Amino acid sequence: MPSSLLIRNAVFIDVEAGVARPGEPIAIRKGCFEAPVASRYDNEIDLAGLFVCPGLIDAHVHLFLDGGAAPLETFLAADETARMRVAAANAALAIESGITTVRDCGGPGDLVFRFARAIERGEIAGPRILAAGSPLTRPAGHCHFFGIEVATPADAARAVELQARHGAAFVKLIASGGGLTPGTSPAEADLPAEIMREAVRAARANGLQVAVHCHATESIRRAIEAGADTIEHASFTSPDGSPGFDPETAASIRDRGIVVSPTAISGVRIARTIRETGSRNGRDHNAVARLEARREHIARFRDAGVTLIAGSDCGVARTAFDSLADELGEFVRAGMSCADALRAATCDAARCLKQESIGQIRVGFAADLIVLRGNPLIDMIYLRSPLMVIRNGVILCDRRAPAERTTLEGLVL
Ligand SMILES: [Zn+2]
Repeated sequence: MPSSLLIRNAVFIDVEAGVARPGEPIAIRKGCFEAPVASRYDNEIDLAGLFVCPGLIDAHVHLFLDGGAAPLETFLAADETARMRVAAANAALAIESGITTVRDCGGPGDLVFRFARAIERGEIAGPRILAAGSPLTRPAGHCHFFGIEVATPADAARAVELQARHGAAFVKLIASGGGLTPGTSPAEADLPAEIMREAVRAARANGLQVAVHCHATESIRRAIEAGADTIEHASFTSPDGSPGFDPETAASIRDRGIVVSPTAISGVRIARTIRETGSRNGRDHNAVARLEARREHIARFRDAGVTLIAGSDCGVARTAFDSLADELGEFVRAGMSCADALRAATCDAARCLKQESIGQIRVGFAADLIVLRGNPLIDMIYLRSPLMVIRNGVILCDRRAPAERTTLEGLVL
């Protein structure tokens, strides 16, 4: 039976304005924020000394990869049940980390959609999922093991229609190789421009946005020309595998209003592993430089006026579902203010992904919120381990002291 909740005395983080507002009451009813009314609420909590912030949005995740040392091998060895278990564990960690919405940028389509529906029905606790389903890739291309291989524009149109019918919230295209997939190269723009154009046309016809995985600089140019909505990674990889940020291409990303999700933290972590172990991908001598360049590109994109949203690429090697706070830490390290970084994982991300009713604590918006021990406008570290997490008015996590916790966890508002 739905209930209602009034939160008193917390410091409310207004992400849009980038300010902390002490003492404003926050009311939740029927899964949404409402203007507090004088009538009684079924539950009231006093959060004096604590901070309340909108639930976070991770704009680039892979729920069906385990984020460990060898995610591809684990995925390939697992049966369907084990794969669903990995997704459930990832979803649980996302919630514990304050992430109330994820954009799944590619997985086994049938399982991803089934998993997203189970979360919507409340059978599994997890974040809201915006799913691409299976990504479109060239034959034997990056992510082909759970993607749809497309060799012609007609293949691409069919694949988009199929994913749309099954509930895709957007379309994911793989326009270059990737580190995860043997036999592909990040330096190679391996999805032809005409296939990308047709995929974008079909996506638009179904009212869907298009996210494009791009490492090779040429693949970024094709994504711009095809009309992508978001470019993932955008690591500006030259034909020899080295990074080479191109200001002119960045300017056209900005001019077309395309949004970039630089996924720096996964790159930084994989580079660290390569440095520590001395291992590398075959003859790929530039892997470390290329991976670490993603971190430097954040500042260059920002200086070029490109809109950035935060995506951790969690699920890939050594990138678990609690990595978004560290991605935001990279944004701040690159010179962004905490307020700008926080917007990249809340209101700005929601706007860029056309999710008009999430990302802010605002009357009528979905009641996604996190309770923090400190002010995230001062330090991103407070985003780690939130004390409470509410998604769509359901209290999914409550780490307050037992005496304060009463029986709120699991409560449906
Ligand atoms: Zn990815």
